[in-house]
This record gives sequence, C-alpha cells and structure tokens, in this order.
Amino acid sequence: MTVEEIISQKLALVRKIWQKHQKRLQQDPKVQELLFQHQKAFQHAQAVMRLTGAEAFCARCGRDGISCCGADMELHCDDALLVANLLCEVELPSQRAFPKGCFFLGEEGCILKVRPLICRNFICPELAAFLGPEKTRILQESLEGEARALFLLGEKIRSLVLKS
Ligand code: SF4
Ligand code: SF4
Repeated sequence: MTVEEIISQKLALVRKIWQKHQKRLQQDPKVQELLFQHQKAFQHAQAVMRLTGAEAFCARCGRDGISCCGADMELHCDDALLVANLLCEVELPSQRAFPKGCFFLGEEGCILKVRPLICRNFICPELAAFLGPEKTRILQESLEGEARALFLLGEKIRSLVLKS
C-alpha cells in the first residue's frame, strides 16, 4: 500500500468518525476544555518561537525548500489528532500540495492547529546551533503544556469515539 493510499484511507475514516460523533464531541465540556488548554499552550509556544528567533529561522528554511515538513511526516498524525483539527475547524486537504512535502503542508506552512508532538519538539542541529543551549532549553520547556494537553485531548477523543 502506498503512503497516498494510507493517508486517503485514514482521512476517509476520520470523516466517518466526524460524521458520527461531531455533535457529541462539540458538546462535550471536557473536550472543549482540553481544546482550549491546547490552543492556549500552542499560542504560548508559538510566542516563544517568535521571541527566540526560531520561527524566523525555520521560515527561512521552509522558503529554501529544506524544511523538516517532508513527505511521510503525515503518518505521525493519528485519527484523534485529525478529529481534533476538525474540532478547530481546520479544513483537511484531499491532496498533497507539494510532492516532497508533508500532506498537511500548505503555502503558509502547516495547516494543522493541533500538530503531532514530533513536529513541535524537533530541533535540528542547525536550529540548535543558532539558538544556543539556553534558548533551546527555553523553547523545549515552552512545549510542555502543549504536550500534556495534546495527550489528554487525544485520550478523551479516543474514549468518546471508541465507546459507541
Ligand atoms: S527545525 Fe531545522 S529543518 Fe526544521 S524547519 Fe527548523 S531549521 Fe528547518
Ligand atoms: S508540522 Fe504540519 S506540515 Fe509539518 S510535518 Fe508536522 S504535520 Fe506535517
């Protein structure tokens, strides 16, 4: 099975889950609370990325076409994470925009509002050298809240969706 077939099967399954559970997920107070916590933590980490200079450094890398958002990275997006993106009103694409890029890479970068942890805490050697140890530590610490919320949100979505 090719990666394109795997991702299209996964998207079909996610759309099916969404069709069946959309209302329930949208009305569940715990899901909404975790979503809020996640997005708040995500924004905090984004602000730290901006302040440390990591955001501009990675954007330059992306413009040169050598970003780490490469093909196959979409395989790190599980069903619950994609459902969480639907809850955030993200429109999931039906095809890859860049042949060598991740399926969820758009013109302005990643289109997902809830992203896999591996995408968030990956710091390549070039970025680590640019940041230096202190800013690298600050950046890593800024992701802790998001990582926690991501885990709890995924667990909650799975528990609701698998229950019925
Ligand atoms: S982490 Fe490294 S490879 Fe990935 S976008 Fe940033 S600079 Fe580029
Ligand atoms: S950050 Fe988004 S576009 Fe980049 S690899 Fe991760 S999921 Fe794909």
